[in-house]
Amino acid sequence: MKQYNDLKSQANGCLLLFRMGDFYELFGDDAVTASRVLEITLTSRDRNKANPMPMAGVPHHSAQGYIQRLLRAGHKVAIAEQMEEPAKGRSLVRREIIRVFTPAVQFDLEGSDPAYLATAVPVEKSKAWALAALDSSTGELLAGEFENAEGLSDAIARLRPRHFLRLGGGRLPEAALAAVKGPPGALVEDIPSNYLSPAGARTLLHEHYGVASLDAFLTSEACVHATGILVRYAMRTQRAEKLSHLRPPAPLRRPESMIMGPRTPEHLDLAGPATGGMGLFTLLNTTRSAQGARQLRSWLLAPLRDPAAIRDRQEAVKELATAGLAHELSTLLSGLYDLERISGRIVARLANPRDTLALGRSLALLPKVAGILQNVKAGVLKNAHAGATKLAGTLEPLAKRILGTQREDAPLAARDGGIFARGTSPELDRLLSLTGDGQKWLIDLEARERAATGIGSLKVRYNRVFGYYIEVTHAHQKSVPAHYQRKQTMVGAERFFTEELKKFEDEIVTASARLRALEQQLFEELLDAIQSLVTPIMEAATELGRLDALLALSRPASQPGWVFPEIDDSLDLHIEEGRHPLVDAASGGSFVPNDMLLSPATRMSLIITGPNMGGKSTVMRQVALIVILGQAGAPVPAAHARWGAVSGIHTRIGAHDAIARGQSTFMVEMTELAQILHTADQRSLIILDEIGRGTSTYDGMSVAGAALAWICETIGARTLFATHYHELTRHARSLPLTGNAHMAVEGSGALRGGNLRFLYKLREGPASESFGIHVARLAGLPRPVIDRAWKILEVLEATARAVEKPENAGSQLSLFEKNESHASTPPPGPAVPEEPHPAIAELSTLDINSMTPLDAINTLARLKNTALLPTTP
Ligand code: ATP
Repeated sequence: MKQYNDLKSQANGCLLLFRMGDFYELFGDDAVTASRVLEITLTSRDRNKANPMPMAGVPHHSAQGYIQRLLRAGHKVAIAEQMEEPAKGRSLVRREIIRVFTPAVQFDLEGSDPAYLATAVPVEKSKAWALAALDSSTGELLAGEFENAEGLSDAIARLRPRHFLRLGGGRLPEAALAAVKGPPGALVEDIPSNYLSPAGARTLLHEHYGVASLDAFLTSEACVHATGILVRYAMRTQRAEKLSHLRPPAPLRRPESMIMGPRTPEHLDLAGPATGGMGLFTLLNTTRSAQGARQLRSWLLAPLRDPAAIRDRQEAVKELATAGLAHELSTLLSGLYDLERISGRIVARLANPRDTLALGRSLALLPKVAGILQNVKAGVLKNAHAGATKLAGTLEPLAKRILGTQREDAPLAARDGGIFARGTSPELDRLLSLTGDGQKWLIDLEARERAATGIGSLKVRYNRVFGYYIEVTHAHQKSVPAHYQRKQTMVGAERFFTEELKKFEDEIVTASARLRALEQQLFEELLDAIQSLVTPIMEAATELGRLDALLALSRPASQPGWVFPEIDDSLDLHIEEGRHPLVDAASGGSFVPNDMLLSPATRMSLIITGPNMGGKSTVMRQVALIVILGQAGAPVPAAHARWGAVSGIHTRIGAHDAIARGQSTFMVEMTELAQILHTADQRSLIILDEIGRGTSTYDGMSVAGAALAWICETIGARTLFATHYHELTRHARSLPLTGNAHMAVEGSGALRGGNLRFLYKLREGPASESFGIHVARLAGLPRPVIDRAWKILEVLEATARAVEKPENAGSQLSLFEKNESHASTPPPGPAVPEEPHPAIAELSTLDINSMTPLDAINTLARLKNTALLPTTP
């Protein structure tokens, strides 16, 4: 326990898995936690003593699954191994912590979801923050700087790190900390502010990447600092000098990609199950490999913005869709394993023989892929061809070595042996013959001894306790030769050994041990060879993953109703018969397509009204999704599409709050709106689904009207604006390049209580009414509530009609009248009576020039008294 306590004190908050023979044991609070998370039995050590120590254990051979569960639950785990063989007379074997795994620093992840370790560093003398994120399993490293705490929090919310290192305790802004704590199972770990100095970080990264300057990767000192912290942390957990699979840091926000609002991926359901929906990524993800899936996801979350770059990718996708290469390439890529994660395991020395075999098989695809791409025309595919050819040259010898030496049925654990086939090395062959031929030798020996002794029932056998023996039944004891030595007496037989058998036994036993040791050594050598080529292997992963993702983008092209859009430099947006890819896929063919035409020549903003459930959100989202698909290089669900490249998509959709971040629904809405109004430009696409619904009608309508006016007059971006405020539609005329459209329904207000049919068709002009009560009835509100609602509506409508009477209309203020004009409009004061008040009548007759000061004071006193008189009726 002293040894355990020593290690526990070094474990730095980890659950300590303490190797004891065939088990990893946990003690004390660790045992209590593990038994709860893993649902394993909690026992105790020294049960009879007054203070028994809680204890729980997991078998060593199946520890991996248990460790995964602990990590998923947000724990760090330290593995303490026995560093020497237990030997007779030794009371205690030496143990050391050989590795630490955390929810993000681990190598056994499956699927394509990233697992980021992240940290943030404040930028000196400013409000800015640098954020870095590392997926140690794939080697992906990202860094970027954000202007303020809000930008930092949004970026963290998007990354969803599983493990966050909080430098120097509480300096992290509250909103950022809330974002860090958002995902379930996320771990926040405090590290001291002197964990690594900025200069230390620079040196570490220079050495790690073998470069003299980091300027090509990291632009700011704070980014260097944050990145260095992550690399050092990951290296320390693995007790590694270097993690050579780490890619050079890439910018968190790539300049060549479209800007998306912080919540846009969630609003548009881009990423899939994480956001609760099916997700555009899931719909399109027909990739064959994990790296392909990762590439596809990153393209959908960061589409391109430069028309030339979009056309380049589109050209490649088109060629894959039409040139007849797709089938052959897909079949090949189905044999591609997760090269990035295997590389991670190789570098962390956690790879098993199946990993290396999978690596060999994957690398063997390179020359075949290069062959298929031989005559491609698109530039992107030509580059892929050149890349695959070059990498095939570099990596083919390694692939051949692996496939030429490893057995097809390689075991999961290297210690079990059986990794390498005959021919790998002469010594291996010799030991394999010794162990493998043993069985034959025994059969031969049995035949020889039977012939020599004349005992037909003589057997040569083996058991684990007594080893090899010759068995003769009692009936034949007389025929047993003198050189047989007695080993054991059984009920019906005697067991013997001979010098020859003893020699064989010794050889076999040592040969098996030597074979296992040799295989281990050969495997280590193979890992070294692979590790020395990790950089080109990671390049191969990128190259093959990219092809896989391009293929996935090309597949919808073969379906009816998908076309490649034309993307140019204009500010137009022309979509004919567009469909929402997800709603369409779920609709079973009943989806109603819609056109969308925006242009600086006609209108840039469209106010969309219509009943609840009428399809407003769907039509707006489908426009955004079509733009995203098109700018990612994919075909889009439409009959025809053409638009000027969109620089960013900004959305404000749906009601949700961020109570954890201390924000109400309306506050979230306004924060998102503020961000859009600050960041959108003329090339943006703005989608606003309901603005101002979370507050009183007049406040909400005022904010919505003013925001719309700002967008139309100042930003001038292509904008879709859905609203239930019909008042806004009337004022569209006074805004530049703004029009009205509505979602059509069959049925009308006259049909109150009657049926309503949604047509899902976008038509010109504003909606005639809102049908909210119809929809409430469809949703199953109790009948009396619906009846009462109609009555209340009647009263409200009657009041509104009274206010809107022509004689009152003059006092109404147009929503979109410019601020300047307000000064010239007199505020609507109280009505002026026809007969002037006596005080006023007297005032108007006064001749001030002829009055003495005393007269003036007396008159003023009288006027004051008169003023208190009631006015004439
Ligand atoms: P609310 O004002 O209540 O938010 P909405 O007008 O935004 O409603 P949507 O959420 O877009 O309405 O659409 C409601 C449902 O109608 C969708 O979930 C979908 O099932 C169906 N729908 C929408 N558009 C179409 C369409 N073009 N074709 C077929 N079905 C559609």
